[in-house]
Amino acid sequence: MIIKDRKELEVKCSPVSVKEGEEIGVRLLHELRESENGIGLAANQIGIQKRVCVVNVKEPLVLINPKIVEKSKEQFVFPEGCLSFPDSKIKTIRHESIVVEADNHKGQLSFSANSKDINDAFECVCVQHEIDHLDGITMFDREFKQEPIVKGVNAPKKIGRNEKVTITKGKESKILKYKKAQPMLEDGWTLSI
Ligand SMILES: [Zn+2]
Repeated sequence: MIIKDRKELEVKCSPVSVKEGEEIGVRLLHELRESENGIGLAANQIGIQKRVCVVNVKEPLVLINPKIVEKSKEQFVFPEGCLSFPDSKIKTIRHESIVVEADNHKGQLSFSANSKDINDAFECVCVQHEIDHLDGITMFDREFKQEPIVKGVNAPKKIGRNEKVTITKGKESKILKYKKAQPMLEDGWTLSI
């Protein structure tokens, strides 16, 4: 049974031993396989308030007491869903790349959406989504709120030419340097922060 109550999911999970974490990981992967289209699951989504989550995009991955130790300044917008909220699809803003440490993995694990393979983006987002769950954070807290600050050519001068900005047009969005975004603003793109 997957928990669908937001309040219940907003509780921070506690650290766990690797042994117990591995047992929880097996249950989570089982639950994930039973789900429809699920690519990740955190222990608190099945009622266990322990720091274990699983991701299964390219291969099944169990993370016990995971920590994001590095994250890129660059962020990107991505459409996200969650097994706890099957009827919601929202756009979130996530780090383009992260480095993770977990007690059941030697060394560090790197995830980056900066790749031609879309699965890399899914995996990178999914890891951030699941680790968030362990901290009681749901995707709604990461929602990308489109707040256009300027339209067309009247962009404020205070944005640096090399500063990265997010621009959107309809459902599409891009992150690029302001100097590259500028000409596109005359072509129907909107600058967002
Ligand atoms: Zn979720």
